[in-house]
Amino acid sequence: MRTGMRQNANEAAGETLLRVRDLRTHFFTGSGVVKAVDGVSFDLARGGALGIVGESGSGKSVASNSIMRLLPKNGRIVDGSILFEGRDLVEVREKDMLKIRGQEISMIFQDPMTSLDPVFKIGDQVIEVLRAHRRLSNAEAWSEAVKALTMVGIPEPEKRMNSYPHEFSGGMRQRVFIAMAIACRPKLIIADEPTTALDVTVQAQVLDLLVDLQREMGTSVILVTHNLGVVWSLCGAVMVMYAGKTVEYATAKDLYRNPLHPYTWGLLNSMPRLGAGKEKGKEKPLAIIPGTPPDLRLTARNCNFHNRCAYRGDVCKEEVPPLIELEPGHFAACHFQTSGGRLTRKEA
Ligand code: SF4
Repeated sequence: MRTGMRQNANEAAGETLLRVRDLRTHFFTGSGVVKAVDGVSFDLARGGALGIVGESGSGKSVASNSIMRLLPKNGRIVDGSILFEGRDLVEVREKDMLKIRGQEISMIFQDPMTSLDPVFKIGDQVIEVLRAHRRLSNAEAWSEAVKALTMVGIPEPEKRMNSYPHEFSGGMRQRVFIAMAIACRPKLIIADEPTTALDVTVQAQVLDLLVDLQREMGTSVILVTHNLGVVWSLCGAVMVMYAGKTVEYATAKDLYRNPLHPYTWGLLNSMPRLGAGKEKGKEKPLAIIPGTPPDLRLTARNCNFHNRCAYRGDVCKEEVPPLIELEPGHFAACHFQTSGGRLTRKEA
């Protein structure tokens, strides 16, 4: 059984690699300002793994793209800070970001077929990443590329350097893309739904590979996913996002043992469980979170979850709940989860 990325010595020592505070990334459209990320805060320890979880449209991918400063023309970080080894990436010049991307922070995307160039050989694509960031001779770049392919488990790597992406299966293409991401030994890898486009059996292999690389290289990982089960098995800490905001943030252990936010309860209730499909011999429908997320042009005046929350009160429609530390290292943003009083979770 996979034991996960969990903790290494640096993480246990509490050395922070990335500190994001009150990050706000907005998109300026003809029909209004879309607040895709509107108050996101978290820390990531050196060598640690953080899972960012939420529904489609919760802002998790925009938050991770903001760290890389990979935003479309109409998107802008309007507030907050992204401290990477103490340096605020929001303030870094684009010229310097080019060096950081790929060398210090790498990204793995959802669909490896669209991330690899179909007309170039696999080896040339890995070498291109290496030569963009390191001064290497042709022979050294070739040898480093072979090493990267070996690390991600590509059989006969020397031979496969001359293959084209279409000659690989989906899982092998994702391995190649991971090889490109690790080629320069980055300090942080952001994996945005890295297994969504893969078969279930291959998904497990790719996740195992990420675990192994994180252990061997001491790389920090941010795993963006809608799958709470994946986060539980891989990450030491979890941030739950809803409608652009951090609604809960804790260690994975605390989040699963004692979740505090009604949205997290909804996510956990709607996870399929073996043996939970029947009740008194009858099929039991899977729990859902009723309703839909709010229009992100109209948020910022109340709790974004109020139209779907079974626990809401009048204050929820009038005030934005702050993210507060309710237990050591465990944060939640809910008007009724305070140090003075707690909600009681209803059974699904
Ligand atoms: Fe629900 Fe209100 Fe808490 Fe928001 S603040 S999660 S609406 S109870």
